[in-house]
Amino acid sequence: MGSKALSSFLKQNLDDLKSKGLYNEINILEGANGAIIKIDGKELVNLSSNNYLGFATNNAMIEKSIEATKKYGVGAGAVRTINGTLEIHRQLEKRIAEFKHTESAIAFQSGFNCNAGAIQAVMNKKDAILSDALNHASIIDGCKLSGAKILRYKHNDMNDLRARAKEAKESGLYEKIMVISDGVFSMDGDVVDLPGMVKVAEEFDLITYIDDAHGSGVMGNGAGTVKHFGLSDKVDFQIGTLSKAIGVVGGYVAGSKDLIDWLKVRARPFLFSTSLTPAASAACIEAFDIMTKSPEIVEKVWENGRYLKKGLKGLGFDIGHSETPITPCIIGDENLTQKFSKRLYEEGVYAKSIVFPTVPLGTGRVRNMPTAAHTKEMLDKALSIYEKIGKELGII
Ligand SMILES: *Cc1c(COP(=O)(O)O)cnc(C)c1O
Repeated sequence: MGSKALSSFLKQNLDDLKSKGLYNEINILEGANGAIIKIDGKELVNLSSNNYLGFATNNAMIEKSIEATKKYGVGAGAVRTINGTLEIHRQLEKRIAEFKHTESAIAFQSGFNCNAGAIQAVMNKKDAILSDALNHASIIDGCKLSGAKILRYKHNDMNDLRARAKEAKESGLYEKIMVISDGVFSMDGDVVDLPGMVKVAEEFDLITYIDDAHGSGVMGNGAGTVKHFGLSDKVDFQIGTLSKAIGVVGGYVAGSKDLIDWLKVRARPFLFSTSLTPAASAACIEAFDIMTKSPEIVEKVWENGRYLKKGLKGLGFDIGHSETPITPCIIGDENLTQKFSKRLYEEGVYAKSIVFPTVPLGTGRVRNMPTAAHTKEMLDKALSIYEKIGKELGII
């Protein structure tokens, strides 16, 4: 039955992961991914979703997605460049460009696909890409697909970036040089030093690329990290996802009209993969409308973030140096981190442990992502469980 080489490869590697305790058993949610989730019949305060604004279960967005499904059907029927571009896609892209204050925007099926398509549409083997050491996996893959030389610089260290940019420029080896970074880093919740980066970019004529998956809907009154710094006209590529704060699925690139026109003829996931569903597109448009009309929703996730941070810090946990609602609790030892997360689960908090190789060895952590949908009571419940387990395991 099937290839022997494959079955022995799979068995050996799965057994290896399981014996080292590194095999991730995936939890199944019995309902929506809201502030409270249900797993195996058990209700838990959910601190692990990226659903920052609670939009995954927003009623107005659900209604719009039903309306769009009735009007346009369940699927787009083709890739965008053949005849899968529906009026609702055009409306979504127009709405995104307005919201981001850019000339134009292009929507993809995911944030991952943006990076798989946009980088290689402009960079090639004659070029170089300066990439932050902690960039997201989809950025790393997107850089690889381009064939450009990848030069890693120290995390958010603009002196190191400058030194490497200078070296790359003076080597004369490259036609174009790009600098690429997350806007908000998901494991620590820190924010890119964008003013510093833009200064280096101007000095060496670098193409600037910010993937703001965790910043859009959260930073800059929802419009993202670039808007937060007031640098919308200095960043060439602004990537966002529709799958995190926006609560649906999809991604986008916002930028100049020429850039977006080029991506529409060269970004491979746009050309060779069927477009976003009408339901997803309509729900996203509604999400941008809600953020515009009700800015207090964005304020709420910050308020909850501050509350949780203050509570955890007050209990004596090491919460790192987050500048956003993302709040890590750094435990250190990998086994202790996993035990801590497991005990939280048993007591009623879902906060997944994150250990090496996702974060450096010895910096194991439980990462908390409060959302606008959490109430004070839910956060208080989580904090009292944190206190109990923290003391029980001698962490605080
Ligand atoms: C989550 C994430 C993505 C992927 O976004 P999806 O829309 O879920 O595919 C891309 N880039 C960064 C920085 C992310 O954090």
